[in-house]
Amino acid sequence: MLDNLTQRLSRVVKTMRGQARLTEANTQDMLREVRMALLEADVALPVVRDFVARVRERALGQDVVGSLNPGQALVGVVHKELTALMGGDQSAEAGELSLAAQPPAVILMAGLQGAGKTTTTGKLAKWLSEGGHVQHGRKTGKKKVLVVSADVYRPAAIEQLRTVAAQVHVDFLPSDTTQKPEDIARAALDHAKRHHYEVLIVDTAGRLGVDEAMMREIRALYDLLDPVETLFVVDAMQGQDAVNVAKAFADALPLTGVVLTKLDGDARGGAALSVRHVTGKPLKFVGISEKLDGLEPFHPERMAQRVLG
Ligand code: GDP
Repeated sequence: MLDNLTQRLSRVVKTMRGQARLTEANTQDMLREVRMALLEADVALPVVRDFVARVRERALGQDVVGSLNPGQALVGVVHKELTALMGGDQSAEAGELSLAAQPPAVILMAGLQGAGKTTTTGKLAKWLSEGGHVQHGRKTGKKKVLVVSADVYRPAAIEQLRTVAAQVHVDFLPSDTTQKPEDIARAALDHAKRHHYEVLIVDTAGRLGVDEAMMREIRALYDLLDPVETLFVVDAMQGQDAVNVAKAFADALPLTGVVLTKLDGDARGGAALSVRHVTGKPLKFVGISEKLDGLEPFHPERMAQRVLG
């Protein structure tokens, strides 16, 4: 069994009783435990290093107030930093999309194959069309949504989106594998404008790994569609690897946010920290079920708790 961060820290907390401040010497053991626990929670190594350095900087020299012992004070610093790194300072953005643009507001979905793009496209379409979206504390109302697939490599992908769209009662624009992705995007944009759709969600091809041709293709789609949201969809179970994939997508595309899927599995959520760190973009949603109502706004505090264990 892996020890979670809370268990690890509480062991060290006991050894730090009776000391009045956090010092180089007494924080060292704690920081080692923090490091181990984060690695076990699947946070990528460079991210762990940065995080530990931040915690150390914040913690050293801190006077320990009231009944706290230095160990407890350090746990507080860890928790605060975790929440901040997850985007605790910008929780207003969690679950919010910039839909105020001249319609149609285009949402471009990016990510590897299997990450959950098509499923998330369906979830977002449902949520928007049913009026679930909240911005600045206010519901933005039911949206007229169109979805389209620009995945011309797998006929099954287009069919999957058709099925998903039917399940959530959202319009689906057919496309086929003989078309070029850019032509599909152009046609979809045109169709959405002519039929007064407020939101157009474009599902894209995902390869098994990151490759240049794929990045060029999605960049071309981005240039053509001028999306208000470019969401990077990533599987929480991907763990350590999430960092490289996120970096490749963030380099190729001006992402606006991240959707972390499959959090209903037993992933510890370390990927959230890694992806946030690498892209600098807010985590906006989490996928919590295969079902099409399994989408939630991201909560930094809850995710910090999950990583802490
Ligand atoms: P895509 O290749 O990126 O379009 O990925 P899909 O949308 O086809 O999803 C791949 C698999 O992951 C499917 O079996 C989905 O049902 C599943 N999936 C997607 N999101 C979630 C989620 O939040 N939770 C769970 N448990 N499964 C999910």
